[in-house]
Amino acid sequence: MARFRCRACGEESTFDYIGHHACPKCGSDNVQFALSIEELADDHPLLAALTELAENDPPPVDD
Ligand SMILES: [Zn+2]
Repeated sequence: MARFRCRACGEESTFDYIGHHACPKCGSDNVQFALSIEELADDHPLLAALTELAENDPPPVDD
């Protein structure tokens, strides 16, 4: 399951990622995806990488 927000129509939801980047509501490819941290295992390498990134350089607020 991936989380996404469409920048074209504002749709915000989750869905099963099936390999393409398009909003299921309007069909725009101008969408923003985010992984759900809670769904990652505690020892997932991506989690360590994200933690390291957050400590070194806080991500910009994109809103
Ligand atoms: Zn959309």
